[in-house]
Amino acid sequence: SRGGIALTTIVITGAAGFIGSNFVRLALQRGYRKVVAFDKLTYAGHLESLAEVSSDSRFVFQKGDIADSQQVAALYAEHAPSCLVNFAAESHVDRSIDDPDAFIRTNIVGTHRLLEGARKHLAGLEDDAASRFRFLHVSTDEVYGSLGSEGAFTEETPYAPNSPYAASKAAADHLVRAYCETFGLPALITNCSNNYGPYQFPEKLIPLVILNAVEARDLPIYGDGANVRDWLHVEDHCEGIMLALEKGDAGRKYNLGGQGERSNLEIVDAICNALDELRPARDNPAMQERGYAHYSELKTFVPDRPGHDRRYAIDASRAEKELGWRAGHDLESGLRETVRWYLNHGTWRRAVQPTGEERKRRGQAPAL
Ligand code: NAD
Repeated sequence: SRGGIALTTIVITGAAGFIGSNFVRLALQRGYRKVVAFDKLTYAGHLESLAEVSSDSRFVFQKGDIADSQQVAALYAEHAPSCLVNFAAESHVDRSIDDPDAFIRTNIVGTHRLLEGARKHLAGLEDDAASRFRFLHVSTDEVYGSLGSEGAFTEETPYAPNSPYAASKAAADHLVRAYCETFGLPALITNCSNNYGPYQFPEKLIPLVILNAVEARDLPIYGDGANVRDWLHVEDHCEGIMLALEKGDAGRKYNLGGQGERSNLEIVDAICNALDELRPARDNPAMQERGYAHYSELKTFVPDRPGHDRRYAIDASRAEKELGWRAGHDLESGLRETVRWYLNHGTWRRAVQPTGEERKRRGQAPAL
């Protein structure tokens, strides 16, 4: 046991996605006796992201949908988890602009099904075991809306979601809170800023820019490129979630963020500089063909995302004080390592995006 939480069976939903697959690796390293990965394997979920751990005898993969009550009931009944961490979600803002339905179904209804499943599971446990159970819901800083040039989101910042994605995550957070208050469910919420690192699906800014650049395709910059995000390495995010799970108080929420504020343009420039060094244009036939000497020549300004939040920044002082959490990676070297990772993982790259179609522009729905 660590901080009162027994390291027995952990269920991780959305485990074949970006952050979930990184968290599975951490849970195994941490010594959990059984790690159950539950995932619907949507366009964003890939077993290749779990290939490294698939031979570990403590690891179980189960394909399933968090919005299906029967599958969720069977998940709790079969594995009797001591904790569940919910990463399963539709996660791409641009897709939520084109078609919000799946976001409502998975992010809101799905979270509700998991909460109901937990409530029924706990009803069958002794008081002691029930109070030691933890439900940790992984959320985003996007629930808080957009900031001006000053300040940072705290856990007390009122919710003001602007995209259908952010609204669906906010609704889920409210349900988790309500299950704590109403039913005494021992649940926690973490709200994190933008993540980067290995295994991120290449529809998101950083892997999309890396893969487009290597193929000498245009690098799309939304609007003026000045939108600011607070970038955190995925391993630091996973460490924060683990600490919240093991040391956090039930009913509490924790903001996690990296003190890594950068504009989109700064991120794209940093990637281009790293590529100039790691795969110079003179050694890249696609770049030769376009006659470019530097990757930054591929930058292309495109129309902005409707409702694009200007700036996010996280005040993580509660997690630092109460959980002893600190982000270990600095952004410059973390980003360089990330570029190197995508260059060196051709098998994974081809498995998750066989055509490059995943990188096409989405989310330009005209306003009414
Ligand atoms: P992702 O899109 O890479 O992975 C999501 C996973 O959930 C996929 O494997 C997918 O197959 C699975 N899934 C989708 N619908 C499902 C369903 N109905 N049932 C079961 N599984 C389903 O997303 P990610 O970037 O890894 O994000 C994980 C979580 O972290 C999400 O809840 C997201 O809101 C949150 N988050 C992400 C970031 C970020 O920067 N990526 C930041 C803060 C919070």
